[in-house]
Amino acid sequence: RIKNNGKGLAAFFDASMEREAQARIKVEQSLRLAILEKRFCCAFQSKVDIRTQAVKGIEALVRLRDDEGVIQAPGSFINLAGELGLIDELTHLVLAEIVKSIDLINDTFGAEATISINVAAKQAGNPEFMRSFALALEETGFPQRFMIEVTEDAFVAKNHFQAEILPMFRKLGVGISIDDFGTGYSSLSALADITADEIKIDRSFITDIHKRPRSQGILRAIESLSEALGMTVIAEGLESFEELAYLQAATKIRYAQGYYFSRPIFLEELKLATPVSSEARASVASRPMQQN
Ligand code: C2E
Ligand code: MG
Ligand code: MG
Ligand code: MG
Repeated sequence: RIKNNGKGLAAFFDASMEREAQARIKVEQSLRLAILEKRFCCAFQSKVDIRTQAVKGIEALVRLRDDEGVIQAPGSFINLAGELGLIDELTHLVLAEIVKSIDLINDTFGAEATISINVAAKQAGNPEFMRSFALALEETGFPQRFMIEVTEDAFVAKNHFQAEILPMFRKLGVGISIDDFGTGYSSLSALADITADEIKIDRSFITDIHKRPRSQGILRAIESLSEALGMTVIAEGLESFEELAYLQAATKIRYAQGYYFSRPIFLEELKLATPVSSEARASVASRPMQQN
């Protein structure tokens, strides 16, 4: 039973809200500082041909080195970066790291491997950012090596992405990839209106696919539609031999990305592990390993 007339309660709420606000300000400040100090780096994960184990492409996955030097995955900061208006700068930092490391990337994964960069749906719908990003890709001198990964929400949202922004990237030869397919709001029929080169089936459908008839049905539907539309299908989050065996036996899906083939890896780890033959590097890029 609350004895005081609510005054103490109000004081309690004030104090806890105050603490929450303080905590948020701290997180915000440390993120701003991280951007200022460019304390970001990329881990790279390969997209593998499941028949030959050749690396088709790689995806850059941003990481933050926090105040204490601990590496943080994007789940802990990407949304906040979006809210604070810092995510565009982050994407430019990702591109800058790729350009700086392009020789090592080519040595490690092959000079033919495409290089994917994630773009949040909100960024994709912002013509100003997308123009500056397209320009930055063009200025690398090798824009046709790149792909941008966007979720299906970017295509469905009422913005200029599909009609005006995408053609700009296509003209540069930049590939378009639909990320996390199946988790957004679009229906399969909406896919018919989307022009993309690649469709990545979300991990939630791939996990234990060999044991889940409903996911198998969905996979078949996405597969045949993608085939009809000329899009390459990639299975995301492939972790086990059983999942791989199912894809090989029951589907025509040719590419997968996941811990089974490779964890996201830091290029510095490869540099440190010298001397490394080109065969060893290739196997590092396409076999299960590191813990990032
Ligand atoms: P995503 O683009 O769908 O990337 C796949 C995520 O799944 C990555 O998490 C990757 O490490 C993880 N993953 C890969 N294979 C497996 C697997 O076999 N099992 C499991 N359990 N997970 C696997 P990560 O690196 O934490 O990134 C999370 C998300 O953050 C990304 O999802 C992407 O949406 C976003 N993100 C990453 N880098 C950037 C960036 O530079 N810009 C923007 N805007 N978003 C980014
Ligand atoms: Mg992605
Ligand atoms: Mg994904
Ligand atoms: Mg995802």
